[in-house]
Amino acid sequence: MSKVTILASTTEKPLSLMGERAGVCWGSDITDPKKNYKRGLDCLASGHGRVLEFVNVEMVLDGYSARVIREWYTHLGGAPTRLQASTRYVNYENFEYVVPHKIAKNEEAAAIYENMMKEISVTCKKLEEEYGIPREDAAMLLPLGMSTKIVDKRNLRNLIDMSHQRMCTRAYWEYRELFRDICNALSAVSDEWAYLVEHYFVPKCELTGWCEEKKSCGRKPRKEA
Ligand SMILES: Cc1cc2nc3c(=O)[nH]c(=O)nc-3n(C[C@H](O)[C@H](O)[C@H](O)COP(=O)(O)OP(=O)(O)OC[C@H]3O[C@@H](n4cnc5c(N)ncnc54)[C@H](O)[C@@H]3O)c2cc1C
Repeated sequence: MSKVTILASTTEKPLSLMGERAGVCWGSDITDPKKNYKRGLDCLASGHGRVLEFVNVEMVLDGYSARVIREWYTHLGGAPTRLQASTRYVNYENFEYVVPHKIAKNEEAAAIYENMMKEISVTCKKLEEEYGIPREDAAMLLPLGMSTKIVDKRNLRNLIDMSHQRMCTRAYWEYRELFRDICNALSAVSDEWAYLVEHYFVPKCELTGWCEEKKSCGRKPRKEA
């Protein structure tokens, strides 16, 4: 079962924090929480993106495939950082993996998929036990569908930018599901997060009003149209 856990170091009131930081530069009264909150909203509405970088998000992503985490790592803006579970010492006898919905729904395909996973596990063990191959070398066989766990730290600007790419129908289905889990987990942190997720975590076609993708899902008209 995959899960997003938002860590306590995540900014609890992102809008208030943004408003407070911007207020320092505008010589405003930053002791008034209501004014800070309103100033935060104004910054967002006016596109003052730099304040988004003060909002910290730290979370554990657990049970998603190594494949989707590989895609996660392409979002570099704002110098995010992360740690990932080691594959050098993994106990591959019981390694967990993601089963795509389309495979799970097809009994025969599911059996082939699961047999292959089992085969990988058996082969890794054989290489180690019968041939004395170090575990870190046998681990080369581990599949991208294997579940992994990361602890991740990034800022709000990066996450909003990511939402535009990864809430797009063209994005990989597991990433879209991961992103939905992140939206739900952040929305549960506070009302301010719920507001941000509802209004700013959107696919890119919501920003432009048209679709930029070559193969459009039809949600919005193509740019040329
Ligand atoms: C449908 C789809 C298919 C994809 N296919 C592939 C694929 O086949 N292979 C692959 O590798 N990736 C693929 N990707 C990932 C994609 O190419 C990007 O790597 C990913 O979206 C992250 O990059 P980004 O610019 O969106 O975000 P970030 O890296 O987080 O950057 C956010 C913004 O910050 C700024 N920025 C970031 N870094 C710099 C910099 N060094 N200098 C100046 N400004 C910077 C830019 O304005 C950028 O837009 C795919 C993505 C999608 C949605």
